[in-house]
Amino acid sequence: MADKRDYYEVLGVSKDASESEIKSAYRKLAKKYHPDMNPGDKEAEAKFKEASEAYAILSDEDKRHQYDQFGHAAFEGGAGGGGFDFDSFDMGDIFGDLFGSFFGGGGGRSRSGGNGPMRGQNVRVSVRVTFEEACFGTDKEITVNLKEECKSCHGTGAKPGTSPVTCEKCGGKGQVVMTQQSLFGMVRNIQTCPDCHGTGKIIKERCPDCNGSGYTSSRKKISVTIPAGIDDGQSIRIRDKGEPGINGGPRGDLFVEVSVLRHPKFQRQGTDIYSTVPITFGQAALGGDIRIQTIDGEVIQKIKAGTQTDSRIRLRGKGVPSLRNSQLRGDHYVTLVVQVPTKMNADQKDKLIEFDKAMYPENYNEDGTEQETQSKNPFKKKKKK
Ligand SMILES: [Zn+2]
Ligand SMILES: [Zn+2]
Repeated sequence: MADKRDYYEVLGVSKDASESEIKSAYRKLAKKYHPDMNPGDKEAEAKFKEASEAYAILSDEDKRHQYDQFGHAAFEGGAGGGGFDFDSFDMGDIFGDLFGSFFGGGGGRSRSGGNGPMRGQNVRVSVRVTFEEACFGTDKEITVNLKEECKSCHGTGAKPGTSPVTCEKCGGKGQVVMTQQSLFGMVRNIQTCPDCHGTGKIIKERCPDCNGSGYTSSRKKISVTIPAGIDDGQSIRIRDKGEPGINGGPRGDLFVEVSVLRHPKFQRQGTDIYSTVPITFGQAALGGDIRIQTIDGEVIQKIKAGTQTDSRIRLRGKGVPSLRNSQLRGDHYVTLVVQVPTKMNADQKDKLIEFDKAMYPENYNEDGTEQETQSKNPFKKKKKK
């Protein structure tokens, strides 16, 4: 591990780079070196892994701190402890976060060409959770159509007792070379064989149980653990629950995209929660205890005398747990809005006038009537013009 490059150097950022600089640097590298973009390119794959590892460490506040202190030793199970096992690190969330639909969009994932083993396509499904479920995590059961190798033909698609024959068009290679005349001269284009669709084999007599596809489909229930702190649009990756591989390749993955339902009172931004709480004029002027609804339930909060409308208070640690470390939580910001009464009975009006007189005597004549200058409609004069 001695020849390991510095993580900051790998991402091409400075030691004091911000979280967003790190993210954007990684995004660029990941798009450039992603295996989907560079099929079969071992060097690109190595670069992709290197960048992903650097990102995994530097994007995590704790791990970055450890790395800054101990360097790579922090993750070698030695001095700094910890030990970072890249293979067990699930990049699913990060990709869901970074690429959205770009990643796992299906297509030619790991299609190294020819009729060799090909990884099955990734499958995307979505699941709805409530605001609170996204905050604290939950288990959801989802139903997916899982393709399975046909038991009758063992995935060959050929009628039991017969075998597929080698495709004549491509000679079993699964690919054909097309030559096209273009502005830039002759262009050689390698394409998936149109006759055998890349399998290199032709089925003369189809298996009756799967109609030649080699697969049967069944509805399966899968339990998904939704981690605390997940946000709307992020995905959870479940390995090997995508479509079956071709020619003995591994299965693709299942991406469960989380759709978070709107909450009537709370809005969320990252790990912070925002809400609005009405308070009375009396509470605002005198101060005192008010009740505030949070995701942990109701809390009693003291507000100071003379609180103005639209004042904001911060409830530390009452926000959403961080996806990477559920011990860390954001804050809950409450905007206090002073309510002005719209309906009052005669007694309430009298009391309010009494209060107003006591508070602002300069607005009243000595006999207690309202001053002429205190026009009920400040725009009256302008209108007369
Ligand atoms: Zn079959
Ligand atoms: Zn063919």
